[in-house]
Amino acid sequence: MATRTAAIKTLGCKLNQFESEQMREQLEALGYRIVSFDLPADLYILNSCMVTSRTARDCRRLCRVAKRTNPQALLVATGCYAEVEPEALKKIAAVDLVLDNAARGRLAEFLPPAQASAPASFPPSYAETGPMIRHMAGHTRAFVKIQEGCNARCAYCVIPYARGPSRSVPSDKVFEQVQLLLEAGHPEIVLIGTHLGQYGADLPGDITLAELVRRLCEMPELRRLRLSSIEPREVSDELIELVAAGGQSLAPDPHCPGQGKLCRHWHIPMQSGCDEILARMKRPYDTAFYRALIERIKSAEPDTAVGADVIVGFPGESDEHFKRTRAFIESLPLTYLHVFTYSPRRHTPAAQMPEQVPGQVKKERNHILHEISERKRAEFARSMVGKQLEVVVEQFSETTEGILSGLSDNYLRAQLDGPEDSVGDIVPMEVTGAAEAVLRGELPI
Ligand code: SF4
Repeated sequence: MATRTAAIKTLGCKLNQFESEQMREQLEALGYRIVSFDLPADLYILNSCMVTSRTARDCRRLCRVAKRTNPQALLVATGCYAEVEPEALKKIAAVDLVLDNAARGRLAEFLPPAQASAPASFPPSYAETGPMIRHMAGHTRAFVKIQEGCNARCAYCVIPYARGPSRSVPSDKVFEQVQLLLEAGHPEIVLIGTHLGQYGADLPGDITLAELVRRLCEMPELRRLRLSSIEPREVSDELIELVAAGGQSLAPDPHCPGQGKLCRHWHIPMQSGCDEILARMKRPYDTAFYRALIERIKSAEPDTAVGADVIVGFPGESDEHFKRTRAFIESLPLTYLHVFTYSPRRHTPAAQMPEQVPGQVKKERNHILHEISERKRAEFARSMVGKQLEVVVEQFSETTEGILSGLSDNYLRAQLDGPEDSVGDIVPMEVTGAAEAVLRGELPI
């Protein structure tokens, strides 16, 4: 009997990517052969997202596309859209089964095995957060979920409804997961969560994110660790010090084990640079707080990359409010922005607010901030010329033959000359130039 095939499509955030990897390994354990989502498969899984109305629309479209590719296939929808609006997905004729987020770690309970002889054993699993993954296919840098859910209620955000309250992965499970991925050869581990800074608050003892990071950096096999997005109020002085020290060298300092492994990179959501809008959004800080934080981070280590999320077109955002946001961003030493166009999400207070901003205005504001982001990133890249950085080599460049492509610890794309076997490794790079925001460089002699 031919091996049955399965295809997974992932929309949305790093958490979804990690969880798709968990599902992929479960499917392989059930005997499925994984194929690309655009090929005929016996089973399609759509790991959905609904952060914007566009991603929700994409989910519905992809369900139909999959069923057109193989009308006999079983189509399973899961992820945040399936969690928050299962009825909307159930209405789509193409969808056979809608699974909530908790069920993603127990696919064997819902899906038929691909073969009678399918192996029955799974990697060790831990409650709520799903099974561990043995490697992250197609990724040099591996994500590790250490926390899920959020106790906050920002006015625009659907995530607390989709992912529930904040829960942390016990530290021994985090270590086990990191160890598995290091054994699979991943040179960089990225810690991810819905609300990373709440790590540890629900665990016994007093472990914090900073403590977890410090202890992970002491793992001898760990070469590089990166933090993903963290809320402004949760950036502690201890973490700032750890990150500032982290870029010096890959070799651990014998006097302070762990130094040199932590990427000099922060991603700190700002959402608006106008205090009135921040208050309407129910964000727990103001622009003075945000500015002081970014300046503290940059003065601790000027070569640190600092990215920010910004939402344009939140209800009530006037031209004057946007002007203030723009000026605030211009005045800050940020490296790049992720700019989101506000779209009302059902269940959220902002969806009911008056003064919704017209689509064309939102589009123009997005464009303006996007251009500022490009400029800031290019300026940051230029400021690295003449310096030595450590680069995780991910692949050969798609545009220039024989040239390697990677990511510096301070989150800049890099192209460099180097031996083929550097792919999947971390190498030092002398930065010789920068084209827009892409660094050019070579291995030091
Ligand atoms: S935006 Fe606010 S509510 Fe949404 S996940 Fe972040 S902190 Fe939680």
